[in-house]
Amino acid sequence: MTVQLDDVSVHFGRTCALEGLSLTVAAGETVALLGPSGSGKSTALKAVAGFVRPSIGRIRLAGQDVTDLPPAKRGIGVVVQQYALFPHLRVADNVAFGLRAARKPKAEVTRRVAEMLAMVGMTSYAKRFPRELSGGQQQRVAIARALAIQPKVLLLDEPLAALDAQLRADMLGELQKLRREVPDVAIIYVTHDQSEALALADRIAVMRDARLVDIAPAAQLYATP
Ligand code: ADP
Ligand code: ADP
Repeated sequence: MTVQLDDVSVHFGRTCALEGLSLTVAAGETVALLGPSGSGKSTALKAVAGFVRPSIGRIRLAGQDVTDLPPAKRGIGVVVQQYALFPHLRVADNVAFGLRAARKPKAEVTRRVAEMLAMVGMTSYAKRFPRELSGGQQQRVAIARALAIQPKVLLLDEPLAALDAQLRADMLGELQKLRREVPDVAIIYVTHDQSEALALADRIAVMRDARLVDIAPAAQLYATP
């Protein structure tokens, strides 16, 4: 579904983390937010997720104003660094969490969890607790958890950051495959890595000092003159 940020500003006390961001991500489109640390990328993502409230501006999903809805009511899949796995739940139960919250039938939960764990190569870790996993493995489980609910909107904040080079390449491939297989999902992908943005995004939004400074199709933005 379409995601719209409509003139969104976020202030934390005297800090302006995001200044007047207007951005529409169409169903089926992937937009990368690219920019240096502190430029407001994560704040934009958290505003869409509902983890931070805009000081000004509105968030719309499929045209509906969701600015006042809590995160769980937005039906969004989120992978954010701070939203770590639930430490007291085993891997499979972490992945099942959103499905159970949505009261999916038990057989469907079991099947879907197995599919997701297989996708990220974590099947043999289903019974482990998050603390027994490496950072990269936890990140893979977080991706599986986000995708389990088949979200119409997927928000990814540096989802490959904790992974080694081989796994980064594998997960990048999985994300590209996901884009082909789930054609109507809108994806916002936060990264400071230009090559990741180019590999995944239809459009790249360049952020600097809390502002959007440029937005264009990936090819156009980095075409050599
Ligand atoms: P990025 O994701 O591009 O690294 P962020 O969106 O995390 O940037 O941060 C943008 C700015 O907002 C930074 O100056 C950061 O320190 C500030 N900021 C982010 N979250 C908070 C918060 N919860 N409280 C205070 N300042 C924050
Ligand atoms: P930062 O300052 O980098 O944002 P914090 O540890 O302060 O780091 O932030 C944790 C983030 O999680 C906050 O932005 C907070 O608003 C957000 N948050 C709060 N409740 C939830 C929730 N239920 N699920 C996910 N994120 C949440």
